[in-house]
Amino acid sequence: MMHKIIQCFTRIVLIIALIIPIFNPLTTKAYSDKTIADLREELQKLKDEKARIESSKKLTQDQINAAKNSIFQAQKEQDQIAKDIETAKQKITESEKMIEQLTQETEALLRYFQLTKGDNVYNEYLADATSLKDLIRRLAAVEQITEYSQDTLKKLDDLITENEQLQVELKEKTTELDKKIAETASKMQQLNGQYSEYSEINADIDAQIKNQQEQINYFKQICSSETIPISSCGNSIGNSAGWTKPLAKGTVTSNWGYRIDPITGAASSFHNAVDIGGNPEGTNIYAAAAGRVSNIDYKTSCGGNIVYIHTMVNGVKYTMQYAHMLSVKVNKGDMVTTSTVIGTVGGGRSTYWDHCSTGAHLHFGISKGYYGIDYSSWNSFLANSIKPPGYPSKGIWWYSR
Ligand SMILES: [Zn+2]
Repeated sequence: MMHKIIQCFTRIVLIIALIIPIFNPLTTKAYSDKTIADLREELQKLKDEKARIESSKKLTQDQINAAKNSIFQAQKEQDQIAKDIETAKQKITESEKMIEQLTQETEALLRYFQLTKGDNVYNEYLADATSLKDLIRRLAAVEQITEYSQDTLKKLDDLITENEQLQVELKEKTTELDKKIAETASKMQQLNGQYSEYSEINADIDAQIKNQQEQINYFKQICSSETIPISSCGNSIGNSAGWTKPLAKGTVTSNWGYRIDPITGAASSFHNAVDIGGNPEGTNIYAAAAGRVSNIDYKTSCGGNIVYIHTMVNGVKYTMQYAHMLSVKVNKGDMVTTSTVIGTVGGGRSTYWDHCSTGAHLHFGISKGYYGIDYSSWNSFLANSIKPPGYPSKGIWWYSR
């Protein structure tokens, strides 16, 4: 739990730390006031940020390698300890064997002196002395035998104690190493998490760099200067070769055409768009083709925030309609490309003003001609509606635009 909290916190700090240096100097400038030079400046900042992340990533990788090496060394040390413990055990076994052997030898010696019966062998042996001289001889022999064997037995016993002590110490050391390995492994896990974060952020920056470059390339076609606001780059809308999708992933929840109205239940109401679900409120919506924002309706009671964009695809004029938006990130007159975030998905519970939605989704419609220029009636807009091309069947997901 604590680990999760720390990870989450780290992630937030990381994201904030990344976002501030990139966007801070330019957040004061509205999208419509930006110039190509501003876009280039943003691009450079993104590239600098990418370089910074790359070096952090490299540093993290070095730390991961160091942790791996440390675990490897500790395991090697543990292998050696296991061998040392085995050696200590062997020494004990050998000592025990020697004790056994020595005992047998002593017994054999005593037997040699014909003293094999009873516990009190020495006394019996001595009691059997036939003369004082014999007794002294026998005493000396017994002393020799017992002194030698007791001395050796003591040495062997010390050796066993020593090896038992050694085993205890080695086991303590291996427990310490276990602890060290566990700590390093946990640290390594954190580092791996951090590394993945960096990789994710890097992938995100890569996408932003690509978008930024695309925007610069598009606006270079229609702007006479790099230092004038993009919105003042004239009325010419560049031609697009095709349509992209306004959302990075999603699924059609309601088809274009006649349907049973989900709100009124009325049969055969005409739906002039595809409804795209599968994205939570707040998900970025992009322009499906480059063009100019022609109109924005804010917080309507049926449709929420609605953005209209004039575009030209394969030489044909179209108006795109984006409805149920939670937020709008462009202004009327803005030039947009397929890389421009025009707003975010709404239609869920947080859009209290929008009563024409049953859940978070984007209502995306296309009509031929420029609504507001070529015609201005809603009926004409509906009459010119075309089925948005390139969408899979209802319920089938897509994961790239
Ligand atoms: Zn709809």
